[in-house]
Amino acid sequence: MSRPARWVEIDLAALRDNVRALRRCLPPGTELMAVVKSDAYGHGMVPVARCLAAHGVTAFAVADVGEGVALRQAEIAGRIAVFLGAGNEEVDDVVRFDLEPVVFDRRQLPILSRAACRAGKQIGVHVKIDTGMGRIGLLPDEIAEFAVSLARTANVYPVGIMSHLATADDPDPEFSLLQRRRFIEAIRPLLVGRNEKSMLHLSHSAGLLRFPDMLFDMVRPGLALYGCRPADATWARAVALRPVMSFKTRILQIREIGAGVGVSYGHTYVTPAPSRLAVLPVGYNDGYLRALSNRAEVLVQGRRVRQRGRVCMNVTMVDVTALPGVSPGDEVTLMGRQGDEEISADTLAGWMGTISYEILCLVGGRNSRVYLSGSSGENEV
Ligand SMILES: *Cc1c(COP(=O)(O)O)cnc(C)c1O
Repeated sequence: MSRPARWVEIDLAALRDNVRALRRCLPPGTELMAVVKSDAYGHGMVPVARCLAAHGVTAFAVADVGEGVALRQAEIAGRIAVFLGAGNEEVDDVVRFDLEPVVFDRRQLPILSRAACRAGKQIGVHVKIDTGMGRIGLLPDEIAEFAVSLARTANVYPVGIMSHLATADDPDPEFSLLQRRRFIEAIRPLLVGRNEKSMLHLSHSAGLLRFPDMLFDMVRPGLALYGCRPADATWARAVALRPVMSFKTRILQIREIGAGVGVSYGHTYVTPAPSRLAVLPVGYNDGYLRALSNRAEVLVQGRRVRQRGRVCMNVTMVDVTALPGVSPGDEVTLMGRQGDEEISADTLAGWMGTISYEILCLVGGRNSRVYLSGSSGENEV
């Protein structure tokens, strides 16, 4: 197989260390549900889930039923929650593959029940409560009625009761504390008269790292597993997390050009002096967005150098005037670490005017991935 001109590296040893570090934040008995939705935030859902399963993770969360089916087909065992629930056409897959859909509407119950009864099986569901996220979920005043319906629904039982924090990365914790109070209030009618235990879960990465009293029975980190910190986390627990994804390419051409030369479309950069520019085979089609034009830096030979001129569809220029030793074929880090220098997903996100989550999904989703297993040193593409 020929080497790609640009690729993302997925460091599975970092993933393993991150899950261990997050576990150390949890009291005994609190479970960790690894959020691997959206192809594991661009890291590749199946290899990520296999690595996590090999290190003891037994609960996963995906966005939709299709992702849940793909995990089961890759022989991932354990709990698989489906955040967006199950559409009418998907309930048979829920039963067949033993998935746990999130439910947020009373009308979903008879559909799930019929499918479960047909198959002679039980469906475990996670009841989603909107305590202030303003997105998916039952509103507090819908819960009593929902609880009655659920108790009467054959072969469907609550394995979890959950909510989601809206502002856990805000300096002011007040709204998160209100969500916690609403959550505790809301679960009461759902627990009345039940013998089986429902797991309570509220916290994503930011909640887990910030609020020790919001861990309940289970936590649902995504971003932190992948080694990014949720927001600029001056308030969060100091947990050593290592970025799992790097984004790399190799120099295509080195060009020596004079002073006063316009570079790339629109000549938004004009060389102030004779310059050496390196041409990189990466552009906005690869998730290296045009918004980075004349803003970004990349790492070459362990040094930071500036991106120059507009980012094109497949091509970007960087200024290596200060680095006489570079040649075509040299590796360039667009995101990640070289020696002591690092360009984090947050840094790249800052230049692009977005958040690290979007960078991971975008870059990871559009480029070939190389998996580094760390211990054996063996790589697989
Ligand atoms: C995506 C998601 C998570 C994970 O959030 P992170 O900020 O990545 O930790 C947890 N819970 C729900 C409901 C989500 O949608």
